[in-house]
Amino acid sequence: MKPGVKICALLGNPVEQSFSPVMHNAAFSDKGLNYIYVASRVDDKSLKAAIDGARALGIAGLNITIPHKVSVISMLDEVDDVSQRIGAVNTVVNNGGILKGYNTDAAGFTKALAGKNVNPEGKQAVVLGAGGASMAVSYALVEAGASVVIMNRLARLDEASRLAHKLSNFSRVPVEAIALNPQNLEKSLEKADILVNATSVGMHPGKNHSLVPERLLHPEMLVFDLVYNPLQTKLLSDADQAGAQTINGLEMLIWQGALAFELWTGLAPPVGIMRTQALKELENNSLNIARRRKSAGQKAKNSIALIGFMGSGKTTVGRILAGKTGKRLVELDRLIEINAGATIPEIFSSRGETTFREMEIDAVKEIAEVPNQVISCGGGVVLNKINMDRLKENAVVVYLEVNIDEIMQRMQSQSVEKPVLEDPGDPDKVRQLVNFREPFYRSYADISINSTGLTAEETAQEIILRLKNHALYNRS
Ligand code: NAP
Repeated sequence: MKPGVKICALLGNPVEQSFSPVMHNAAFSDKGLNYIYVASRVDDKSLKAAIDGARALGIAGLNITIPHKVSVISMLDEVDDVSQRIGAVNTVVNNGGILKGYNTDAAGFTKALAGKNVNPEGKQAVVLGAGGASMAVSYALVEAGASVVIMNRLARLDEASRLAHKLSNFSRVPVEAIALNPQNLEKSLEKADILVNATSVGMHPGKNHSLVPERLLHPEMLVFDLVYNPLQTKLLSDADQAGAQTINGLEMLIWQGALAFELWTGLAPPVGIMRTQALKELENNSLNIARRRKSAGQKAKNSIALIGFMGSGKTTVGRILAGKTGKRLVELDRLIEINAGATIPEIFSSRGETTFREMEIDAVKEIAEVPNQVISCGGGVVLNKINMDRLKENAVVVYLEVNIDEIMQRMQSQSVEKPVLEDPGDPDKVRQLVNFREPFYRSYADISINSTGLTAEETAQEIILRLKNHALYNRS
């Protein structure tokens, strides 16, 4: 590092999978700039300190990613009009101690469209998802004069409604929010010119999934999938098949980075270099996965599978564990729901437990070989040996033990889905089921953690401690 080096940093949680360091460092080097870009994992409670630290240290620029794009706004000295309207910032410039926020996601999306000669003006667009990416993309479409339908899952439709309401305030065209369901998809896509997937569906490891049935895609449509790993998602393959024009998420990723580079340095970004680096990173990613898969079985395992009774905290602990270890969280029950297009209680009531267990076997098969995951399993996963054989091939199995009284308490205080229990309030039934399953959990566990009385954070810490010196576990 040369003296006087200027530092740019990415703040988020997690950041380990980010392509930004390789893209920006290659761009700085190409332009002969004495800059360096680093990624720093920052949790919610440390964000303010990180921003103040960046100001104090004279950090030249920041990128902000999940989950801080909205909360960072109140910590900055200024934000530009676009970020203000979107309500999210992904780039910060330090101008002599004054931190100003920008949003290059929206402009990056517009640049990617322009690169394919797509002008959204007067077009009908459908955006799937209402999270951070959708906020930027829906804004860009509205700003360009497209009418926009934002679709989100029913349970969180209010997110989409809030976004549509906000955009309507300055839009010349209609902005609508509707539930993401098969009927609405069919109706909206019939007349859509542009379809954007701004959800994480299709992303590795659930790469064989798409929210859109193939028959709804048509040749007059442009399909833009914001997911960039894999580059060719199922949605994009289906769109290609249907004769639609397609754009992958890498284009937006490169452009949002290129525009941030321009804001920090005042120079024209070397977009070609940034694209080459991003593609190399993607290739390395795939090669690493293939290599790890090949050697799985002969060496220690780097995935963790959490098993235990419903209410034992597998999902909450799993989320914390994934955050702390930089692994990807996979919720088996959520994967089954995506595959089935129905909730677990719906599957149980309309198709029965046997069908559910078959779906569970398929879901385990789909994800068991993928390395570096924290897999939060459903309570009954242990009932099929084939599931546990597959999981144990690649994951250290951790049993979250909790005593029955605490399970009862948690089941009453949380809205836990308990489809296998006809009467979840009956302590005898719960005791019966726990006693029946207990020997299965014990016999498959590589590690058992008694989490009675522990918080989820403490349980995750305990797991990390126990894994540290475990013969089966490989931290890399
Ligand atoms: P986010 O804030 O977490 O939002 C995720 C959205 O996806 C939410 O609307 C969520 O719906 C929806 N969703 C998740 N799982 C779903 C499912 N199974 N069925 C239906 N909807 C589902 O994440 P984000 O930052 O917006 O990112 C979304 C995607 O865009 C990610 O894949 C990310 O990698 C990609 N992205 C790409 C770029 C780029 O430059 N190419 C930039 C930013 C993001 P609920 O509200 O119902 O949970």
